[in-house]
Order: sequence, then structure tokens, then C-alpha cells
Amino acid sequence: MKRRQFVKTLGAGTLLGGSAFSGAGAAAEQRFNWKLVTTWPPNFPVFQDGVERFAKDVRRMSDGRLNIQVFAGGELVPPLQSFEAVSQGTVEMGHGAAYYWAGKVPAAQFFTAVPFGLNAQGMNAWLYSGGGLKLWREVYEPFGLTPFPMGNTGVQMGGWFRKPIKSLADLKGLKMRIPGLGGKVMAKAGVNPVLLAGGEIFTALDRGTIDATEWVGPYHDLRLGLYRAAKHYYYPGWHEPGPVLELIINSKAWEGLPRELQLTIETATAASNLWMLSEFEARNLEALRTLQEKYHVEVLEFPSDVLAALREFADVVLDEQAAKDEVFRRVRDAYRAFQADNAAWNAVSETAYARSLRKIKVGML
Ligand code: CA
Repeated sequence: MKRRQFVKTLGAGTLLGGSAFSGAGAAAEQRFNWKLVTTWPPNFPVFQDGVERFAKDVRRMSDGRLNIQVFAGGELVPPLQSFEAVSQGTVEMGHGAAYYWAGKVPAAQFFTAVPFGLNAQGMNAWLYSGGGLKLWREVYEPFGLTPFPMGNTGVQMGGWFRKPIKSLADLKGLKMRIPGLGGKVMAKAGVNPVLLAGGEIFTALDRGTIDATEWVGPYHDLRLGLYRAAKHYYYPGWHEPGPVLELIINSKAWEGLPRELQLTIETATAASNLWMLSEFEARNLEALRTLQEKYHVEVLEFPSDVLAALREFADVVLDEQAAKDEVFRRVRDAYRAFQADNAAWNAVSETAYARSLRKIKVGML
């Protein structure tokens, strides 16, 4: 018995050793040619640039074993069909923002930004260390998608208004391009939220088809030329306080990658996440100064009573959505609990520190 067992063990061991060895050899040679479609226009600074930088990083880190070909929105599939394309396996990867899929997955919005929600630092803390990414993967599991955080714009600007906003009453009846939950919150204040793609915004604002719009932040808004159509530029972007960009991978393709290439992707997405946020943080002020000094844009803070009212509307909007969708409610509860703790910690860290810097006067650029 003992001898037979020994032989059997030895046999299995040899076989395992042999297969593991040849398996490793085959895996080391196996090359992957993947396609990545984005929701961004070609050459879109930071967003599309960041994705191309990511693909280059992965190619270099994997010594060419994982070769990712990047397509801008519309080059291979229409920009807002990347979710389906990756889900169905037409392409292996997509880059965009989770809240674009709110129609299919309302809870996805929490993984980008919600009004008066977490900022970029808070989102990273929630996703990487507070259970957020695990929850995100659960929410995307039925679609055969594995998501990763990959990019963040930081706090956006509140938007461009043709007329100043001095009270809540000034919002009433305005037509504003503001998507998602932010638009729903604005609707509670009497705004008519309008959906427009990036390329349509300037003309609509210039012709007065809309009275206001939000876009991204100074760096991108300057490029779109919005200052030529409206002169009142409000902050802060309460509706998008730290929007996370996402990389989605077809789960079957992901599971078929050797572990070291999975690690390469994990590491490269985290590096891109940091790079994109850093670009926004470093470049926005220069653009804001240009807008103010060269184009005479009025940079204004929303009145505090307007912000207070919008904050209350935001709670109502989130409650309404939670009542309609169980997954939304579950993610909302987890997010809310994390945000409450994060705010408590921030009260003695970030917030207290920001308050200590009295010499930096907000609004004095
Ligand atoms: Ca925006």
C-alpha cells in the first residue's frame, strides 16, 4: 500500500511538475492582442491621453506580451456602446465613466460621482481600502465585466451661466446642460436639465438654446471655448466632486490572463489613476487664470444658501432612486456610511488643515 501510494504521489508530482513547467513556458510565450475602446474624442487631453499612456505602460511592463490597441469613441464602436461591446466580448477593454451606464445600472453612479459625495481622495479611499471596489465588481458581475478605477478629474467646476446666480430663485426656469443625478437635483430647484454631448454644448450655449452648462474644469472648459458664450463661471462642482473614470475588462478575457499580466494591469490602472488626477490638479489653475485675466470671465462661488438647498435636494434625489432600485439602495447605504466616517476623519485632517491656510483666499487667483 505504502509503495503504491508513494508511486502514485511521485507520479502525480512528476506530472504536476511537468505540466506546471511546460504551462509556465507556454504562458511566458503567449501573447495577447487586445482592443480598448473609449468614450472620449481622439486626442482628448488627459482622458484619451491617459488611456494611451496606460496601453504603452502595459506593453512595456509586459515586454510586449500584452499589446493593447486603443480606439477613441466612435472609431470602432459608438462612444456610449462600449459597455455592451466589452460585456459581449467584441472588445476586451473599455474606458469611460460608470455613470454613463446609469440607465442600465443605476447604482453605477456611485462609482463615478454623486452630488455632494466623496472627493477624489475619498473615492480612492472608499474604492481601494473601504470595500467600494469589491461592491463595484459585484454590481458589474451580471454583465461579465471587471471594473478598475482609472482616472479622476478632481472637483469639477459648477458650470457656466449666462446670468449670475444670486439666489435659488435665479435657477428657476433655466435650461442647463447637466447630466445624471446632478441634473435631477437641479430639476428640484426648477431647472430644466438638458442632455448634450460635448461637441454640441458651445453652440447651444452661444445661441441661447440653453442658459447654462457644466462640462469638466478650467483646463477642458477653456479648450471648448465656453467663455465666449457665457461669462459667469461658478464653483464648486458640487454635482461632480471627484468623478472616477473606469477601465472595464471583459471578465472571461480577464480570467484568461496569466496572473503576472493581471498584476501588470492592476498596477498600470493605479498608476494611470494617479497620473490623471495629478494632471488635473496641476493644470486647472493656469487655465482658470487665463479665463479670468485674458477672457474676463467672472469666477464666482455659488451662494451658500443655494448650495445648502441643493444639498437637501440631493438627499431627496438619492432617496427616491434608492426606493426604486434595490442594488442602488445597497450601494447608497455603503457609500453613505463610508462618507460619514470619511467626513468625521476629514474634520480633524483635511478640512481642519484647509481651514488653517487662511492666507490663501478663495477667489483670489
Ligand atoms: Ca462634468
